[in-house]
Amino acid sequence: GTAFDAERVRLDFPILNQEVNGHPLVYLDNAATTQKPKAVIQAIVDYYQQDNSNVHRGAHALAERATEKFEAARNKVARFINSPDACQVIWTRGTTESINLVAASWGRANLQKGDRILVSAMEHHSNIVPWQMVAAEVGATVEAIPVDGTGTIDMQAFEQMLDERVRMVACGHVSNAFGSINPVADIVKLAHDHGALCLVDGAQAISHWAVDVQALDCDFYVFSAHKLFGPTGLGVLYGRRELLESMSPYQGGGEMIESVSFDGTTYNQLPYKFEAGTPDIASVIGMGAAVDYVEALDREGAAAHEDALLAYAQKRALDTPGMKLVGTARNKVAVMSFLLEGAHPHDVGMLLDQQGVAVRTGNHCAQPIMDQFGIPGTIRASFSIYNTFADVDRLFEALAKVRQFL
Ligand code: PMP
Repeated sequence: GTAFDAERVRLDFPILNQEVNGHPLVYLDNAATTQKPKAVIQAIVDYYQQDNSNVHRGAHALAERATEKFEAARNKVARFINSPDACQVIWTRGTTESINLVAASWGRANLQKGDRILVSAMEHHSNIVPWQMVAAEVGATVEAIPVDGTGTIDMQAFEQMLDERVRMVACGHVSNAFGSINPVADIVKLAHDHGALCLVDGAQAISHWAVDVQALDCDFYVFSAHKLFGPTGLGVLYGRRELLESMSPYQGGGEMIESVSFDGTTYNQLPYKFEAGTPDIASVIGMGAAVDYVEALDREGAAAHEDALLAYAQKRALDTPGMKLVGTARNKVAVMSFLLEGAHPHDVGMLLDQQGVAVRTGNHCAQPIMDQFGIPGTIRASFSIYNTFADVDRLFEALAKVRQFL
């Protein structure tokens, strides 16, 4: 056990207190989305009950309150990731839209025929496909940085791939399929040494430790609110200021303009240039509450607790006949991807669900690395701050029943 009190943290998450298929819920699908604490749910309810109004243009009290909370949340996120300025925090619909924004806006203007974009072989589809789309438009290529059989990036191979035609390196901070922690500070440094930019996909890192975009020295950092105990439908794009200043808007509409006329339109300053239309105000305010919640936690204790859960689960896996761990990188967050001999991952997932244990099965939107490993997918148990050792025991009890059944 650890000093971190996961049982107390659990009480903040009302959804966990329910039965599924006649069993108390064990939620181990945190890499897909984390649950929301009462404080986040309440912030959204309060907004709709007290402050609901459009932001930035109203001349009345509700609009002022909504705008104040909306911008306060941006300031919180900026501080949370150590962005030099809040104007470098742009609200998007999620990690996916953040990457699409950079690929479309920066990519179309800066990539040329013959340019190379490098992504790791174990990226999420959302950090592959947007690059393939812009590459097809401009005649660039998207190439995979090799990943070994443990789910670890081959840094030597990466260094050898770098040349002056590489313009962008886009890499996950943490693999959603295996939990591997990638050495992104080193990746950024190597990319910069060769004149390339680096976008870091922080979707799977942001909930696990304090991210510092200045220490990483990355050009872009992207993540989703819903993986940080916040609402769905909201993401963050952090970017280096001079890059964002130089980039064209992604979408046109209200809010992103300075002045519109049929002779020509000028664009708003950062961050509004990239925030066309009415934003997801409630989710932004919910995200502010999520950041407050996380900052009030003992974050180091939480990380140690998650690590202890993973170590315990991996130890039990060794004692489980026919269970094979997939992705055994030395440096990992609390994600356990595995296979059960003779069973399709999908069937295992269904049989676990019947026992109240929620996991994810399939290729985890990382089909290329599953193809490389020669498997259709895995069963993935991913742990968060409110999971307990009892949850791990429930998973293994349920797996024992699955094995009997199959
Ligand atoms: N990248 C990674 C590493 C992810 O885990 C996810 C979500 N599974 C995404 C990108 C996409 O995030 P979203 O669906 O919230 O846009």
